[in-house]
Amino acid sequence: MSELPGIVVNGASGRMGRMLVKLVSESPAARLVGALERPGHDWVGQDVGEAMGGAALGVPVSDDPLEAMAKAQAVIDFTAPAATVALADLAAQARAVHVIGTTGLTDDDITRLAAAARHATIIRAGNMSLGVNLLVQLTRKVAEALDEAFDIEIVETHHKHKVDAPSGTALMLGEAAAEGRGVELDRVADRGRDGITGARTEGHIGFSAIRGGDVVGEHDVIFAGTGERVILRHVATDRAIFARGALKAALWGIGRKPGSYDMMDVLGL
Ligand code: NAP
Repeated sequence: MSELPGIVVNGASGRMGRMLVKLVSESPAARLVGALERPGHDWVGQDVGEAMGGAALGVPVSDDPLEAMAKAQAVIDFTAPAATVALADLAAQARAVHVIGTTGLTDDDITRLAAAARHATIIRAGNMSLGVNLLVQLTRKVAEALDEAFDIEIVETHHKHKVDAPSGTALMLGEAAAEGRGVELDRVADRGRDGITGARTEGHIGFSAIRGGDVVGEHDVIFAGTGERVILRHVATDRAIFARGALKAALWGIGRKPGSYDMMDVLGL
């Protein structure tokens, strides 16, 4: 019987990183073969299971991506934009599928990832859950069906540690709503209203971000008309949904030809 696919987790000490280490090491479909942290992190050199406060997993935390990926078919990366962009070239070099959950990437970062995807299989999504990817499809359909008399507002809530806004998911939903309407999101997005903003512009798509406590992630897409509102909502109560989606993406990506993919491709939506 052939060996299970080897997976490396980047940013192993993070909220998502820990979740991924646990999920991959317990998976019957994959093996955890590496855990990465940035140079200088106090987990480097320790067994990742022990660093997490549990039993040893036989996988030391490394700060050397090429060494960690040498025996891997895929790397799962929920870290920070600069770390993700730097890892993309190395993952391509190591011929490892790069699954990217990191959000807050700039257009420049995305251009660099697209360049890496000429030689590597990159699967990137601002949200890896099945429910949100379904919500994206629904948002596109509802935006297509309702005209500009319905104002579209996207409201998201996340835990107090989140560093970027709007969330990657809110932007995915905004893109889908804009696509449904046949417009470019950049031309119609209203982000961060404050002060005397004037009346709302018809056809614009508004974003609001709430931050607090330990909220995993909540997204409402509001279509507000005169006398009625349609609200599409997703509530995440457990980060495991993102980790499960990411592992599914990694396994799906192994053996695919180089290119940029997303969760719609993985889920066949
Ligand atoms: P977090 O707890 O802050 O974890 C980020 C991890 O990345 C930390 O361990 C951090 O280490 C590490 N890191 C930073 N720079 C690094 C580098 N150069 N090399 C290796 N590791 C590095 O954040 P989180 O909540 O897990 O979220 C991480 C990212 O995933 C965010 O962008 C978030 O928005 C995104 N996310 C996406 C989804 C999705 O479904 N797509 C779901 C949830 C979260 P230090 O602590 O030492 O800096």
